[in-house]
Amino acid sequence: MLQGRRADHGHGPSGIHVNSEQPTANMYFDLHTHSVSSDDSRATVDQYVKWVGVLRRKGYHIDGFVLTEHRKFDFDQDYSAISADSDVLILKGSELDTDHGHFLVYGVTEKLTDRVDFSDVHMDGLELVAAAADTGAVAIPAHPGRFGIGLCEFTGNGEDYSVLHAGERFNGSNRPGEQERAEEFLSGLNLAGTGGSDAHLVSAIGKCMTRFEGSIATESDLVREIKGGAFAPVWLDDTQQG
Ligand SMILES: [Zn+2]
Ligand SMILES: [Zn+2]
Repeated sequence: MLQGRRADHGHGPSGIHVNSEQPTANMYFDLHTHSVSSDDSRATVDQYVKWVGVLRRKGYHIDGFVLTEHRKFDFDQDYSAISADSDVLILKGSELDTDHGHFLVYGVTEKLTDRVDFSDVHMDGLELVAAAADTGAVAIPAHPGRFGIGLCEFTGNGEDYSVLHAGERFNGSNRPGEQERAEEFLSGLNLAGTGGSDAHLVSAIGKCMTRFEGSIATESDLVREIKGGAFAPVWLDDTQQG
């Protein structure tokens, strides 16, 4: 599925100059999906994989997706066989409720779940960010423009968000106004942005994604690339092969 696409200039905080004459093999991942393992989704991982096949046959580029189940991490779920069969990379993360709204966590380990109670809906969001950083993971605000549960609702206290590596800029399940609020909020913080569909329905997967310049095969690759900043949010139509 890897097709050479030219790297864009100017996204990501690193400011690294990319030679536009040098084609790079970008990878596209939906970083925010929910399967039946979340209490509010009926979509199975098999169904998502089949839908990714449908999208590919229509010419869209999607390399894989991350399951970010609500308030949990499925250590026992192993999707490596279905990944290998389908050539769709399936990684695992989590979406946690905090006192600063919802956060997506990538690179979850037992060190992190020993330190943070994932089921605690009142946990300190900034402490989660710190605990993730200490344990080789990364936590970023999900749908920061969402009414009621996005980080922009919790900004009145002059808190220091410089600990954040990124925020979810494109979310496929936003209601009217929330996308604009997210973009304004993240631009104000000069934060790199990811994209994820927030799919709870099979046909919603891939609605928006994150384009990475680096190669990703594992959850730790994903953490490294998010910390590196060489990525940008994209809508599904942006991935169509011309
Ligand atoms: Zn959420
Ligand atoms: Zn979600």
